[in-house]
Amino acid sequence: MNNEIAKSKINLMALSKKELEDYFISIQEKPFRATQIIKWVHQRGVSDISKMTDLSKNLRDKLNVTCEIKVPEVVFEQTSKDGTKKWVIKVGEKDLIEMVLIPENNRSTLCVSSQVGCAVDCSFCATGKQGFSRNLSLDEIIGQVWVAANSFGLPRDPNSRHITNVVMMGMGEPLLNFEPVVEAMNLMVDDNAYGLSKRKVTLSTSGIVPKIDELSKVTDIALTISLHAPNDELRNELVPINKKYPIQELLDSVNRYVASCNDKRVTTIEYILIDGINDGLDHAEQLSKLLEQLPSKINLIPFNAFEGSNYLKPSGNRVKRFQRHLQDRGYVTTIRSTRGDDIMAACGQLVGQVNDKTRRKERSKNQIKTKAL
Ligand code: SAH
Ligand code: SF4
Repeated sequence: MNNEIAKSKINLMALSKKELEDYFISIQEKPFRATQIIKWVHQRGVSDISKMTDLSKNLRDKLNVTCEIKVPEVVFEQTSKDGTKKWVIKVGEKDLIEMVLIPENNRSTLCVSSQVGCAVDCSFCATGKQGFSRNLSLDEIIGQVWVAANSFGLPRDPNSRHITNVVMMGMGEPLLNFEPVVEAMNLMVDDNAYGLSKRKVTLSTSGIVPKIDELSKVTDIALTISLHAPNDELRNELVPINKKYPIQELLDSVNRYVASCNDKRVTTIEYILIDGINDGLDHAEQLSKLLEQLPSKINLIPFNAFEGSNYLKPSGNRVKRFQRHLQDRGYVTTIRSTRGDDIMAACGQLVGQVNDKTRRKERSKNQIKTKAL
C-alpha cells in the first residue's frame, strides 16, 4: 500500500518551471512557489521538502504527501589522477548512464547524456553501435548536473569550485530528445538553478536540421556541429543522418541559428580524424573551402578505438598536419585531448557496458573512449 502511494508521488525534479507553476496553481498556491522549489533543489542541492524553510509548514506537509524530489542513484564514482571525475548513475529499472567532469585551470566542464544509446548510428561511435534504447526524461538529464554539482560544488558557492560549462556530448543525439533536453538546458542557465552562461552550455548535434530551426525559436545556447566529413559522399558513410539532411542543408540551418542569436557567434565544428578515411590533406582543403560560408572554429578529435571497430586513430603527425593545413587557411583549429585516461573517464565511455558487468570488467585498455573532451 505504502509502495503504491510512493509510486504515484509527483517527482518535482521532473517538472519544467512552467509545469511546476501550473502544479502550484492547481493546488491553489502562488506560481512563484515554483522558483522557490527550483532554488532549493538546484541551487542549494536540497531534496528533502521538510527542509525548505521558506515554505509554510502546512505547505511542506501537503507537498510531502503528494510530491517527492527523486534524485538519481549513483552506483559508482571515481576520480582520476588528473582530477577528472566520473559518475555512473542508474536510470529507470535497468539502464546505467555515465557523466564526466573535467576540471581545468579556471573552468570545469561536465559532459551530459541525453539518451540511452543512439539511433543515428554513426559508423565511428560506440553509442551508435549499441542502438537506441530510450530517451532520458528531464529529471534524468538535469539529475546528472545535480549529482555532479552536489559532489563537486554547488552553483556559485564562493567556497568551492563548481561546474562552469556543460556539454551535451554524452550518450545520445540531444535534438532527437528535444523537449526534455531544452527544459534541462533552461534549468542549467536559470539564475535560480545553476546559473550558467548561455555560451557555456553547449548542445552537440549530428545535424537534425528541422530541430536546429526549432531550437533557434526557443533558445540561443551554444551549438556545436559534428561534421566529421567535408563532402556528402563521405559523410553519408560516417554520419548516416546526412542522407536525410545533407551538408549544405545543415550549414544553412546553422547559419539561420547563428543569425537568430542576439550576439555574434562562431560555431564549433567537430571533426573526428580517422586514419586513412577522412584525415588527408585533400579533406582538410575541402573542409576549409566548405566552411568559408560559416564563421567557425574547428575541433579535431583523434578517433578513439573501441571493440568491434575497424577504424584506427591517425598518428600524431597526421593529426598535426591536418591541423596546420586549416590553421594556414585562417581557422582556429584545436585538437581535443583526452582526460582521465587512468579511469577510462571519457564521456560516453559506458556505452556497451550498460547492464553488463562482466563485459565491463573484460574491456581492455583500448576500450571505448568516445567523446573525449
Ligand atoms: N550525438 C551528438 C552528441 C553526442 S556525441 C553528436 O553526435 O554530436 C559527442 C561527440 O563525441 C561527437 O562529436 C562525436 O562525434 C564524438 N565521438 C563519437 N564517437 C567517437 C569516437 N569513437 N572517438 C572520438 N570521438 C567520438
Ligand atoms: Fe549518436 Fe552522436 Fe554517436 Fe552519432 S556520434 S551515433 S549522433 S551519439
